[in-house]
Amino acid sequence: METLLMKGRPVADAYRESITAKIATAKAHGNMPTLVIVLVGDDPASCVYTDRLAKLTESLGAAAKIVRLPEETTEEEVINLIRKMNRNRYITGILPMMPMPKHINSDAVGAAVTKHKDVDCLNPTNAGEFYLGRRSWAPCTARACMAALEYYKIDLQGKHAVVIGRSNVIGKPVALLLLQKHATVTVCHSKTKDLADIVKQADVIIAAVGKAGFVTADMVKEGAVIIDVGINEVDGMLVGDVAPEAAAKASAFTPVPGGIGVISNMMVMECLAAYAK
Ligand code: NAP
Repeated sequence: METLLMKGRPVADAYRESITAKIATAKAHGNMPTLVIVLVGDDPASCVYTDRLAKLTESLGAAAKIVRLPEETTEEEVINLIRKMNRNRYITGILPMMPMPKHINSDAVGAAVTKHKDVDCLNPTNAGEFYLGRRSWAPCTARACMAALEYYKIDLQGKHAVVIGRSNVIGKPVALLLLQKHATVTVCHSKTKDLADIVKQADVIIAAVGKAGFVTADMVKEGAVIIDVGINEVDGMLVGDVAPEAAAKASAFTPVPGGIGVISNMMVMECLAAYAK
């Protein structure tokens, strides 16, 4: 059996042209699409991600601004700043970098972003509309998983998809998106009993746990499709949630790095471009 390596780059590139065109149109109308990323503290992974996202934004012709706030910034200060940005007509999209430091309620910060500038579906009204199937802008990483499945022509109808993880940014929204594509979906989490047996039944596995090598070969049905969302640092290297021997049993899988992360960044850009008028 040949294994398909579902690289993220070609998927992201497939979106590049239309996003660049939308940004150019907005600029021609005198509106510079501008993304503001709010980074509180100096978590190394968040800093790297923020810089990459800013570079990507600029490479597509839009503007990026990083607001760096010290670790000790209060929740109220962050929320007040976001409310100011909501009113600033020169700002198109606002992305508070998650997770926030422990003393800040990330949900409250996300809720402060106006629904019209919310590029990662953090605003509860946007999340509710997405839940009801009335909004296509789901959280970016969840959309990235679906973009990979679509690009590599993975048929989902009637397939059993098992999502490991139930966070608001990945597990829950990706489960909903899979349902919209007519998969039969099971969501597993830290309290799931007999998790390995459940995952073994999956035609499609979405691993969003945040634990290196969590999905082992014995959990994977031969020929399953695996989307590895996890990003974990082990001995200075980035690895996913799926062990290499498990990926070897798949008919198709996304690598880490070079898989979902690259697409996820482009999904932020897609939403920014859509908000730009
Ligand atoms: P999270 O909020 O920590 O959620 C992790 C989920 O995994 C939780 O639902 C948790 O279950 C579940 N889990 C933890 N231990 C488990 C276990 N032993 N068995 C079964 N389930 C278990 O993380 P997240 O924000 O969803 O991120 C998940 C991973 O994706 C992380 O590695 C993160 O770095 C990565 N990520 C990647 C991208 C990208 O662009 N590629 C973007 C964002 C995040 P409970 O709910 O029961 O606690």
